[in-house]
Amino acid sequence: MPKRRNHPQHASPDGVTHLAECPLCAASYDPHRARVLGKNGEERLLHVACGGCGNAMLALVVVTSAGVSSVGLITDLSFEDAQRFREASPVSADHVLAAHVLPADIISRLL
Ligand SMILES: [Zn+2]
Repeated sequence: MPKRRNHPQHASPDGVTHLAECPLCAASYDPHRARVLGKNGEERLLHVACGGCGNAMLALVVVTSAGVSSVGLITDLSFEDAQRFREASPVSADHVLAAHVLPADIISRLL
């Protein structure tokens, strides 16, 4: 489960709130490297790339009249990968079974 932290926040002119620094290397995030993956009401899912270490954060940011809160998850996913996985269908039990059976099938053909 992602750890909820109180990050220092910076607001950009477009109204999107960004996390201030990378929790891995402490480099300051460049707000221009934050990209919105999705919006839902007051919630924004951001991909924030770190220019210091090359990792990124997926951050769920909620902006309300009461303030800003965020929860983040460190990732090595690029924005494009995060977007692709976000739009992909969920993994089903059939997918898991197919992944389990496929290698056994391949091995049986080799024997
Ligand atoms: Zn970093």
